[in-house]
Amino acid sequence: MYDILIIGGGPAGLTAATYACRAGKTVLVLEKAAFGGQITWSPRVENFPGFVSISGNELGDKLLEQAMEQGAEVELEEVAGLARNGETWTVRCDSGAAFEGRAVILATGAHPRMLGIPREEELVGSGVGYCAVCDGAFYKGKAVAVNGGGNSALQDALLLSESCSKVYLIHRRDSFRGEQKLVDALRARENVEFVLNASVTALLGEEELSGVVVEQEGRTRVIGVEGLFVAIGHRPDLDAFAPWLALDRAGYADAGEDCLTPTEGLFVAGDCRKKAVRQLTTAAADGAVAALAACRWLDR
Ligand code: NAP
Repeated sequence: MYDILIIGGGPAGLTAATYACRAGKTVLVLEKAAFGGQITWSPRVENFPGFVSISGNELGDKLLEQAMEQGAEVELEEVAGLARNGETWTVRCDSGAAFEGRAVILATGAHPRMLGIPREEELVGSGVGYCAVCDGAFYKGKAVAVNGGGNSALQDALLLSESCSKVYLIHRRDSFRGEQKLVDALRARENVEFVLNASVTALLGEEELSGVVVEQEGRTRVIGVEGLFVAIGHRPDLDAFAPWLALDRAGYADAGEDCLTPTEGLFVAGDCRKKAVRQLTTAAADGAVAALAACRWLDR
């Protein structure tokens, strides 16, 4: 039996683990894929305090090392659901493993959103992707497109422009949600073309992607690319925990800055919580707030 079970090993979950351990609690962090979470997909992070520039992978490793140094235990497990028996939570995992704790912090983050256009699912892995860091190397010397206008899309386009012959950055508006510094860097690249006020409406190619159809200001345009990286935001990963939470229309946990949920002993932190700013720093801040709230609840 642990004091606190933390579901999700990204910046929110690992920061929560560090704080809870330092408050003397026993902690288990369950992560389904990679400790560090979404940030492991970022080639360079330049806006986390204390690091001028660090790769997302390295930052994830440091967050993990820090939590374990404070005494956190960690397991690679995909969580299937929660059950409550009196004052005890049981976390059930897909592997069949189960863990018990007195409090639970959900720090499950979010997963990439899909465009929802025909054949998108069919072409995943055959030209359509959601992680340029993971798959960009397959498109060396080829023309690719990135769809989106946030920091993820801008970073993906920058990364791809280093190895691809041409990068089309397709965005539905004419201004970007992502940082101006990244936009300026992209404008300076000769092999990057901005395709603005534009939406991808169809995917071309039989078994492999050969192009995208774009609707741009009332005109239809076909762009020949072998890769399309979709970076249009994320959806929270809270489906398995919905019975215990209030969710907003987009599926985020409708919890305030105090990270409390309507369920006693259950807390929520990071990108899966409804919030105005989703950044590494705000995820880490949530982790601290949720951990201290959980500690107060355990000590009540
Ligand atoms: P985001 O900031 O939510 O941006 C999503 C983009 O996709 C927006 O430009 C949006 O357009 C567009 N979009 C949404 N739905 C669309 C659709 N159906 N069709 C076409 N376009 C669509 O998401 P993100 O870029 O994944 O970033 C998530 C968070 O992580 C952000 O807070 C970001 O700053 C942060 N992040 C930080 C770093 C870092 O290095 N520190 C790196 C990556 C991400 P509109 O602008 O028109 O809404």
